[in-house]
Amino acid sequence: MPDDAVQNTDTNNVTAAAAAAGEATLAEAVSQLRDACELLGYDEGRAKALELPRREITVAVPLRRDDGQIEVFTGHRVQHNCARGPSKGGIRYSLDVNIYEVRALAMWMTWKCALLDLPYGGGKGGVRIDPLAYSTAELERVTRRYTAGIAPLIGPMQDIPAPDVGTDSQTMAWLMDTYSTIQGYWAPGVTTGKPLSLGGSQGRGDATSRGVCHIALAGMSYLGMDPTEATAIVQGFGKVGQGAARFLAEAGTRVVCASDVYGAIVNPDGLDIPALETHVAATGSVTGFAGGAPIDRDAALTLDADVLVPAAVEGVLTEANAADVKARLIVEGANGPTTAAADEILAANGATVIPDILANAGGVVVSYFEWVQATQGYWWKHREVEDRLAEKILDGWETVLAAADKYGVSLRTAATTVAVQRVYEAQEQLGMFP
Ligand code: NAD
Repeated sequence: MPDDAVQNTDTNNVTAAAAAAGEATLAEAVSQLRDACELLGYDEGRAKALELPRREITVAVPLRRDDGQIEVFTGHRVQHNCARGPSKGGIRYSLDVNIYEVRALAMWMTWKCALLDLPYGGGKGGVRIDPLAYSTAELERVTRRYTAGIAPLIGPMQDIPAPDVGTDSQTMAWLMDTYSTIQGYWAPGVTTGKPLSLGGSQGRGDATSRGVCHIALAGMSYLGMDPTEATAIVQGFGKVGQGAARFLAEAGTRVVCASDVYGAIVNPDGLDIPALETHVAATGSVTGFAGGAPIDRDAALTLDADVLVPAAVEGVLTEANAADVKARLIVEGANGPTTAAADEILAANGATVIPDILANAGGVVVSYFEWVQATQGYWWKHREVEDRLAEKILDGWETVLAAADKYGVSLRTAATTVAVQRVYEAQEQLGMFP
């Protein structure tokens, strides 16, 4: 192929802003780990062993576009830890993907799996691409090529991807098919979040949102709030946010504001969530919804409401806006939405933050159920999955409350500390090779 046939797009190179944001996210993750290590009295060497990823791979992902042009993307997969089992974590398609962000998200997966006592370590992956700018056929080719690139490192007992921002059950079907083709055998356990027809689990699609709602209701009860009197804001009306808003509304909570990357809409009487979901399915955005008034996207975070569910991206609650947050309860649907500086301001103002590694763990819990079913060739009913999810995530809530009480720390530090201790114990018992 002559060089001039390669279209050089700037998606090959992460922008300085995205890299800086990724580095800041990684610094947040490391500082949370360091807080836990200090509390647990671990020395520097052991803290480093818990911090650094075990393995990471970066691959070029060339794509022949529908019009014959060639573009090349960059993909990553990071396996942060595997002391408690194979790495587990999503795959993100976004222009913001960079190695620092993937490392941070992989580390949070390690703690999330340990906190929920799942037999996994943490991993994460991503391709730096805007999925909305490509056809379905192009995204299939990108997914297959990325999967081929990381195939030597993934597998049902090695590293098990799942959907995340910009990917979905169709992406996982392509990933599984590519991996199975390379291996020469059917390998449904290589991924979770698959379509039902290919061994996906009942209840996986909205499991993260269901978990967010279980935890939000538990948090409300903890703070003495009546969910049928409470109001909520949901930032990010994607896979996690839509379900979280629906389940909260079903529990009687008035969801007064919802936002997405394009804007936000507000209705003090409560948004009609099923109607808003229909609108988003038809138009791709909450903007233009007749059942609410438009407001500035970022103003959504500081509106007057009892509960705030950030369910979009990391680093949205910062020292710049935390003091203006009115919500008394923040339930982190997204990974890493609150910076350490914002955490301090929110705590000083009396707000309770329920951390991501607990609040959004419903997805990985049901992913675990899917993996168990896939590797056993056995299928559970919807109700069974929902009951097991509720039990597992509410156990996690009790564990975090008990640890916060024991150590006298925030729910975030308590959750991270429980998880880090479990990973540390596994590492110590495994010993060190050689
Ligand atoms: P998604 O791509 O389906 O939805 C993301 C939503 O956020 C979209 O509506 C997007 O428009 C919106 N958004 C992006 N930037 C925004 C901004 N600055 N302000 C307001 N809205 C913004 O992704 P998702 O799967 O719902 O994931 C959302 C978050 O939840 C991510 O942090 C992800 O890592 C985390 N998470 C997802 C799952 C899962 O099962 N999908 C599980 C655990 C955690």
